[in-house]
Amino acid sequence: MNYPEITKPDIDKIPVRPNLDPNFPLGGEFDWASIEKEMDINHQEGLNLTHLAIDRHAASSRRDKVALYWEGKNGDRESYTFGDLSKLTSRFANALLGLGVKKGDRVFTFLERVPEIYIAIFGSLKMGAIVGPLFADFGPDPVRDRLQDSGAKVLLTSPSLRERIAPLLPELPDLKHLIIVDRAGGYPAQAGDSIYGEIMDAASPDFPGITTGAEDYSIMHYTSGTTGKPKGAVHVHHAAIQHFATGKWVLDFHEDDVYWCTADPGWVTGTSYGMFSPWTNGITQVVYEGGFRASTWYSLIERYKVTVWYTAPTAIRMLMKAGEKVVGQHDISSLRHICSVGEPLNPEAVIWGLKVFQQPIHDNWWQTETGAQLIANYAFMAVRPGSMGRPTPGITAAILDENYAELPPGKEGQLAIKPGWPSMFRTYWNNPELYQSRFQNGWYITGDNAYTDDDGYFWFVGRADDVINTAGHLVGPFEVESALMEHPAVAEAGVIGKPDPIAMEVVKAFVALKDGYEPTPELRRELMQFARRKLASATAPRDIEFIDSLPKTRSGKIMRRLLKAKELGLPLGDTSTLEEF
Ligand code: AMP
Repeated sequence: MNYPEITKPDIDKIPVRPNLDPNFPLGGEFDWASIEKEMDINHQEGLNLTHLAIDRHAASSRRDKVALYWEGKNGDRESYTFGDLSKLTSRFANALLGLGVKKGDRVFTFLERVPEIYIAIFGSLKMGAIVGPLFADFGPDPVRDRLQDSGAKVLLTSPSLRERIAPLLPELPDLKHLIIVDRAGGYPAQAGDSIYGEIMDAASPDFPGITTGAEDYSIMHYTSGTTGKPKGAVHVHHAAIQHFATGKWVLDFHEDDVYWCTADPGWVTGTSYGMFSPWTNGITQVVYEGGFRASTWYSLIERYKVTVWYTAPTAIRMLMKAGEKVVGQHDISSLRHICSVGEPLNPEAVIWGLKVFQQPIHDNWWQTETGAQLIANYAFMAVRPGSMGRPTPGITAAILDENYAELPPGKEGQLAIKPGWPSMFRTYWNNPELYQSRFQNGWYITGDNAYTDDDGYFWFVGRADDVINTAGHLVGPFEVESALMEHPAVAEAGVIGKPDPIAMEVVKAFVALKDGYEPTPELRRELMQFARRKLASATAPRDIEFIDSLPKTRSGKIMRRLLKAKELGLPLGDTSTLEEF
C-alpha cells in the first residue's frame, strides 16, 4: 500500500456501468434475471452458449459484423462474421451428429490457435456435446491423462499434433473419432481419421432449434492440484450470463470495440474471455496464432486498432523488459482499456502501464473453477497498484481463518466465495468427493491466501497449497514428479516453484537417483529433455538439482515445503515428523 491510487487520466469520461456505482459497496446480492432479460433468454426455449454467443447475433443487425479477425503465425489473415460462424458451427454440429456423437459426449480439441478451434467448440456446444480444449504445447502425458479421464469420444487435431500423440492412441479406448484439420493440405488420412474439410463440406449449414438447457454441461478445463492428476472442472451453459455481464463490467465492452485476449483456448481465460464473453456481447475480437514478441504484439494492436486488451502479468513483464523504444515505433493510441489476470500483477507493472499506455493496467482475479471474473479493478475506479480490486456484482468474497470463520480487514487468510454464482463449476469430472471438499462452512475455498483493506479491496498473498504458478499456468507438482519418475535413473522426485523475475515462478525439481547412476550434467540435461518431451515446455522443470534423498513425512509424503525452504534459504521449521533430510 505504498503506492498512490491511480485513476485513468480521462476518468471523468468513463461511464459508470449500472450496478457498479463506486459509492456503493460492490459484490453481494445481484438480480441475475436482469441480465437474462438483457440477453433475451427464455428458459422454455432452452439455453445454449452458441445461440447466445453467435446465432442470436447472426439473426440480428450484427449478422455481417466481424466476430473474428484471425492472424496466423506466418502472416495469413482471415476474418469471420457472426453470420459466417453461425453457418460453420451448424455444419460442425451436424458433422458430429453424422459421426454418431450424442449430447453429453466429450469432444476435445488439441490444435494450434486456428479458427477451426473456435468453430469446433461452438459447433460442439450447439449440438450439446461437452467440450474440452487442450493446449497445443502439451506433450503426450497430459493429453493422455485428460482424454482418459474425460472419456473423450472425439478429438480435433492437426497432422503434426496427431503424430505427437500417435503412440498413446491404443491407450484411449473411448476415443472413437479423430478429426484432422489439414490447413496445409495433402495429409494422407490414416484409417479411422475424418478430415475436417470433408465432413464440413458434407454437412448442412442449418441447425435449427436449441438442444440444451441452462444447467447442461458445456465445457471442462483441467486444472492442477497439489496431489493426483489434474481434475476436469465442469461448467454449464448458464455461465454465459456471467461472461456477458463481466464483459461489460470489467472489460468495459462497447459495441465498436476491437478486443484482443492473448490467452490460449487451452486455458480458461482463452475460452471464458477469448470466446464466451466477447461474443455474447457481440464484440469483434482478434486472435493471433503466434507467440510472444513485443514488436509483433504492438503491431497487432496498431493493425487492428485494438481498444480493449486482456493479457497476463508475465506478458506485461516481458513487454517491460523489451523497453519503451519499441512501443514508440507503433501507433497504439487505439487502446482504451487494459486488463490482466492469472498471476499477481506487481505494482511496478501497473505504474509502467500508466507511463507507456497512459493508463493503469487493471488487475482482476478468478480461477478455472470460478469460470468468470469475481474480483476486479473497474475502468472507472481508482486502481490501488498491487490490489486485485473488489468483488463483482453478485459475488460475496471473504477472508477466512483456518476454522473457516471470517476475518476482519488487514488479516491474512483463505480467500473464499459464497457459492451460487452462475459461472461456478458444477463438479470435477469423475470426482464429486473432491468437488465437495472445496466447500466448507458454506464457502467455496479458493486455495489462495489474501487479505482485504478497509475499503474492501482484495490483496493477493500467495497460494495456500504447493501448486506452482508459472507464467499464469498452474502446474501440479505431482504431474511433474510422476513424469520424472518414469525415467530409469530416477528414484524419487520433488517439485517446487522457484521464484523468477519474469514468469513469477519456474518449475524446479529435486531428484534422487537410483543406485548406479551418477549425478552428471549430461544426466541433468537428459532429464530436462525427457520431461519436456512428455509434458510441455512450460510445465517441464527449468532446473534440476540432484539430492541424496527427499524429505518425507513418516507416512511417506514428500515435504515440498521443506524443499522450497531449502531453495529460498529459509529456516526449515519443525522437522519432527520427518524422515532424515
Ligand atoms: P487458473 O485456475 O489456472 O486460472 O489459475 C487460478 C489461480 O491463478 C488463482 O487461484 C490464483 O492463484 C492465480 N491468479 C489468478 N488471477 C490472479 C491475480 N489477479 N492475482 C494473483 N493471482 C492470481
